[in-house]
This record gives sequence, structure tokens and C-alpha cells, in this order.
Amino acid sequence: MNKFVFKIQKQIITYQHELRYLFWECTGRCTLKCLHCGSDCKVDSVHKDMPYNDFKTAIDSIPQNIRNNITVVLTGGEPLLRKDIADVGFDLRKMGFRWSMVSNAMLYDEKTHIKLLNAGIGAVTFSLDGLEQNHNWLRNSPMSGTYLQLFRFYRR
Ligand code: SF4
Repeated sequence: MNKFVFKIQKQIITYQHELRYLFWECTGRCTLKCLHCGSDCKVDSVHKDMPYNDFKTAIDSIPQNIRNNITVVLTGGEPLLRKDIADVGFDLRKMGFRWSMVSNAMLYDEKTHIKLLNAGIGAVTFSLDGLEQNHNWLRNSPMSGTYLQLFRFYRR
């Protein structure tokens, strides 16, 4: 394919598939080893987390005027294992992006919730794989049922 055709095709694809969600797998570390995990996550990943500044350099090329329509989704691994996760979110908001997070909820508590809200988080996604026994089986941990504590937390 010559450069001109490639350029035109890229423009058409960009127009047809407006960027709305941008997922950043910000760590390969995780507190669980789920049976179905497709990310090959480990408690101690051999790969260091990507520094936020490297990611920031990449998304800085996104024009300012479309950032408010884009949600940066922080995922992993378990994003809450990163010490800088709230600072990352706060900076994303300052840059004009919305942000959200996918978490296994093991480290999620009220203090974390308030911290993330103050950093401008718009949404958080947790997976529920069944009732406690089934959830723990698929999550490969008898402790993942602590996840269900969340519902008690939110019912208050
Ligand atoms: S919580 Fe998610 S990232 Fe962690 S092991 Fe389970 S599926 Fe993989």
C-alpha cells in the first residue's frame, strides 16, 4: 500500500472510529491469580510498571479539544498496587481527560474511595463472577470473597 492510500485510509478509520476509551494497562502486578486471567499477571511481575511520564508523553499528542470526550481507563493487573494511582488520575483530569479504573476490589476501601473521588475519578469497574463460592473459585483465592464487603460498604 503506498503512503498516500495509507494516509487516506487512516483518516477514514479515524473518522469512523472516534476515540472514546483509552485503556492503559498500568501494571502487570496483581493481588490475585484468577483462573481466567488473560493478562498473565503476577504478584511480583518481572516487568516494572511503566512510568506515568512515559504514558503522559504518549497521550499528550491527543488534541486538547477532544480530550473531554475521552475516558482513560486504568487497568492491569491491579491498578491500586501503584502508589501513584490517585496522582495519575488527578493529572489526567488536569490534562482534560476523564478517567476511570478497573479493579479486583481487594484493596478497595472507604479511604481509597474518597482519595480517588478527590482525584476526579468518574467510574470504577469490579467484576462479580457469581456468589461467593463461585467467585472465589474463579478468582483462585478464598480471600477474594472480601470483595463482597464492598456491597456492605456501599449499602451504608
Ligand atoms: S484480578 Fe484481573 S488482572 Fe488480576 S489476576 Fe484476576 S483477571 Fe488477572
